[in-house]
Amino acid sequence: MLAVVQQLLVLQDRDQRIRALTKDLKDLPLLQQRANSRLEDDVAAVANALAAMREVELKIKSLDLDAQTRRTSIARIKEQQFQTRKNEEFQALAFEVTRYENEVRTLEDQELEFMGQLESVKPAHVQATLQLSETKKHVDEELAAIAERGKNVEVQLAELKADRAQLATAVDPDALSLYDRLMKSKGDAAVVPLLGPICQGCHVSVVIGTQYKLKADEEITQCEQCGRVLFQEG
Ligand SMILES: [Zn+2]
Repeated sequence: MLAVVQQLLVLQDRDQRIRALTKDLKDLPLLQQRANSRLEDDVAAVANALAAMREVELKIKSLDLDAQTRRTSIARIKEQQFQTRKNEEFQALAFEVTRYENEVRTLEDQELEFMGQLESVKPAHVQATLQLSETKKHVDEELAAIAERGKNVEVQLAELKADRAQLATAVDPDALSLYDRLMKSKGDAAVVPLLGPICQGCHVSVVIGTQYKLKADEEITQCEQCGRVLFQEG
């Protein structure tokens, strides 16, 4: 194999690794996004459990206010009772007091019922909060691993690029420019093996003249279909 083709193969190896690592680096934000999205369900579960608790707490507060209003009324009526001298009015006020006291009892009973309900919805909130912190722990670990990978890839990329630049200085300028053009236009490889008569870049059979030219190994041989530089394996 021509020395220049060997050089191009080494260069191609670095370029392909650089390309793969650059893609890895580009995919990292997507991986981060995916990790974070795993929290969404747990965050929603905590919010739902909290909303259920708040709803019951609001009912209790409202019942408490209603009972308080009636207690104030009772105190006011008792004051009126104390001031009145008419027996009939006194009785009417006593009736009012009893009515309010009954209402207060009913409200207090309802309040107790909702307090029981509150106790039954609390564990769901505790459970959801625990689940969220558990998931968050895993997600944080995953995010840390992704960040670590990003750092490693950047270091590797810097090393590969420096190595690539160093290698390129030793390559014949014409061959290098041909290689760079092919690498840019083909995207995958600029230097490919010829397997039998088949170019492994475009998978088309090359003409017999091209096969002889490659065998002679005197100058760079390109596939007449795709233009890639050929080499004989083995
Ligand atoms: Zn080809």
